[in-house]
Amino acid sequence: MTALRAGAASDPGRVRAVNEDSSLVAHPIFAVADGMGGHRAGDVASQVALAALKAASFEPTVEGLREGIRAANVAVFERASNEPELRGMGTTLCAVAVVRDATAEGDGEAEAADGEERIAVANVGDSRAYLFRDGELEQLTHDHTLVQTMVDDDRLTPEEAAVHPQRHIVTRALGIEPEVDIDTWEIVPFVGDRFLVCSDGLFNEVDEGRIAAVLRRLADPDDAARELVRLANEGGGRDNITVVVVDVVDDDDRAARASSALAAEPPTTAAREPDLAGFSSPAPLVDDTTIVNPVAVVPPPAPRPSRRQRRAARRAHRRVTWRVVLFLLLVLGVLGAAGGAVWWYGRNTYFVAFDGADVAVFRGRPGGFLWFEPTLVERAGIARAEVPASMVDRLEEGADQGTLDEAREFVANLEAQIDTVGGGSPAPTTTAPAVTIESTTTTS
Ligand code: MG
Repeated sequence: MTALRAGAASDPGRVRAVNEDSSLVAHPIFAVADGMGGHRAGDVASQVALAALKAASFEPTVEGLREGIRAANVAVFERASNEPELRGMGTTLCAVAVVRDATAEGDGEAEAADGEERIAVANVGDSRAYLFRDGELEQLTHDHTLVQTMVDDDRLTPEEAAVHPQRHIVTRALGIEPEVDIDTWEIVPFVGDRFLVCSDGLFNEVDEGRIAAVLRRLADPDDAARELVRLANEGGGRDNITVVVVDVVDDDDRAARASSALAAEPPTTAAREPDLAGFSSPAPLVDDTTIVNPVAVVPPPAPRPSRRQRRAARRAHRRVTWRVVLFLLLVLGVLGAAGGAVWWYGRNTYFVAFDGADVAVFRGRPGGFLWFEPTLVERAGIARAEVPASMVDRLEEGADQGTLDEAREFVANLEAQIDTVGGGSPAPTTTAPAVTIESTTTTS
């Protein structure tokens, strides 16, 4: 069974006198509400909503959670309707709860209907739920705000939205209408997962990198929640700040089973008995509704259901594999290029030298290079004894020539020199054909 451990913290911030945020830590449901309205109506709205959610007796399913939030909406709406001083009040509500996934409402994957426990995430407004898993922080919910709508329509970048003067205008909240649209998601929980539920007073002051760093550093959920509130105040504290951190401390070996399933590619579905009674109440549970004060805002959702996350994990796995393959190909390419350069240097050059009693043209480097030994290309048709004394040393060492044509020209010049020294008429320097190895025998 899934066991959770939760911690929470809330603070009015450094500007507002009243904390209109509220939080609920009452296993198996955890929530944050950010109230809005004149005077003290905002804190009433958030408290009424969470009290109603807590009191609602709903089935531990996603639909049950939606039912509880609808009850909370009605409770706020009726108070606002019946008490003139509370007219117009509303609140965001973002909740996570342990539920049983008992229906096959998913996208067709069998694992959606296995009856196992899930973490349901529900959202109305601009508070947020995040999942911190494997060191990465992922926003699960999608803000219900004017600026988010503009971002969705490509009229604003997320960076512009973060500092937009109208970023606090919410497009959806509890208590405004008798009915409310609720975004929900289901996440398969694994040991080590941390769910963060918070009001906008946190993420408007502390960027996600710093939030993740705190969740990475502080294992105790209470410590983490308090530190996040402290950082939000340090960043300005311009709004009420409320943070609930919910840790998955036992997943009934689901993580191990999921690893096996992932390794086997298509993931398997182990149908297990629903164990609703087993919502173990883990460690210290701060119970009850706490109030904090707000400035209205409501967040929307855009979470990844567990199935999508698994597919993403598999895609990531494949990406890693391709990276490895590309890296190996790159290494092989570099090695091939280096080998080619060595081969070119060692083999693609010529020199003229003595071969016993004769002069010959060789391919390679005089004396060889690395493992490339020079090879005889053709004899020059000149005897060693004919070579002028001035050229003997050079031919002993081997006269480098870039190409076979240059080597042949060198031989031709050598023949011309011999003819001249020998008193004969100067030979043309461009002829003096060499004798190829195949057609030649000896010289004299
Ligand atoms: Mg707020």
